[in-house]
Amino acid sequence: MRKETKEYNYDWMLWSIIDNAAKTCDGSRKEYESLLGLIPHLRDLLHTIISQGEPGILLLKLLAGYLKKILTAHDEGKKIAMTTFCFAPPILYAFDVVPLLLEPITGLGTFILRRGTAEYLDYCCEVGFTETSCSSQRGSLGAYLAGLATRPDLIVCDSPGICDTNANSYAFASAYLGIPFYQLNHPPSLTDERSRRYHTEDFRNMIAFIEEQTGNKLDQDRLREVIEEIKIQDKLICELTDLQQLIPSPMPSIYNLFLYSGVFLFNGTKGFTRLLRSMLKKVRTNAEKGIAGTRSTGERARGFFSYIDHYTTDLRFWQWLDANDISHLGCILSSFWQEGAAYAVDREDATYRMSTDSMESMIDSLAAQMSRMPMVKSIRGPYDAPNMWLDDTLNMARLFKADFVSYFGTIGCRNTWGMVKSYARDLERHGIPTLILYSDSFDDRVQSWEAVTDKMSEFIHLRGIGKRL
Ligand code: SF4
Repeated sequence: MRKETKEYNYDWMLWSIIDNAAKTCDGSRKEYESLLGLIPHLRDLLHTIISQGEPGILLLKLLAGYLKKILTAHDEGKKIAMTTFCFAPPILYAFDVVPLLLEPITGLGTFILRRGTAEYLDYCCEVGFTETSCSSQRGSLGAYLAGLATRPDLIVCDSPGICDTNANSYAFASAYLGIPFYQLNHPPSLTDERSRRYHTEDFRNMIAFIEEQTGNKLDQDRLREVIEEIKIQDKLICELTDLQQLIPSPMPSIYNLFLYSGVFLFNGTKGFTRLLRSMLKKVRTNAEKGIAGTRSTGERARGFFSYIDHYTTDLRFWQWLDANDISHLGCILSSFWQEGAAYAVDREDATYRMSTDSMESMIDSLAAQMSRMPMVKSIRGPYDAPNMWLDDTLNMARLFKADFVSYFGTIGCRNTWGMVKSYARDLERHGIPTLILYSDSFDDRVQSWEAVTDKMSEFIHLRGIGKRL
């Protein structure tokens, strides 16, 4: 790693940039517009978010506050738990532990830093971690391994079997940094009684681990508060998903990113409820006017992104969608399987339901939510089994009336690379044009963003997707 890269801590850099970005709208519009001319490296990213109005500003403020909490946790006597986006954070909020999610922290780096996160990615390999692992963890993990970020106190993950490269990242971090570690396991099936029992018992063992690490017992009132907030959030998310079914989709494509980042980082907190309400207000207004959420308010095509999105610098993926009037109808990351979700009709056994009736029922609810987190829910078993990836994609592509399905992953996605061709073939058999992209969502060195857009444009043109593309 270069000397310059070691000059500042990675998490501090992200916080200082996002904190300043979040303040840019505190002044007048004229001040904001004058500022854009002075920050050529941040201008495009900032404007892509701020142009979304109140939801964009709220998201930036939430992110700035979140990063600050990581930086100040130890001074405030709080523990930090390193974890993954597959892990629902409410249980950590109930313990007043600060969740530190590697993938969103990597994503922030790829969005913001001109140089990307290559040096942190490579540093993991320099100290012995495999280069075929997922870039979504490695992009920020390198900073933690190099001592260039606030050291976490414990590590919890829940991805063995679902994504072993994900699970290995946390196991490696634990061994390398000497940090206590707990991993939840998920059986290959979801809805049978044996799996449910396994999930809840495993979840209770994890609670015992967190109690041991923090020295605190799980507080019933605080847990109830968090779950009440999730109940509100689940209703708001369900309404957003309902509205996405309209043609044109009134939801701006980038709201999918706001939605899943929010669940990963802030689920169960009041700030996230404010963000969801603000998003919903805008989506409802668009729906009443009958306009699309795209920049031009028109919709030429509807895409379901069947796995993850692409996190290249300046949010260029979302800019490209907008420039081409393509509505993003969601991806595996934006499907949470709460009770009442539009995609769960006739699949109620695959959903979770939040209950605050008793301590036991609250813990069971969170265990059920955890076992339905993105990836954990639908990549745990054979791709074409009930409730798994193909079943879920067909269901959502039909529900949202998608014109096409597209796959982005990382070089580490062995579980999906092993089945993606059969999966695409099956979708095509059902009449859904499907594109597999061979890029890495977090590492542009694998395939440039320009090559990705060429592939997507060619696919859309050749398959005759959209009205005027
Ligand atoms: S499935 Fe792919 S994107 Fe998800 S954690 Fe694993 S390697 Fe990363």
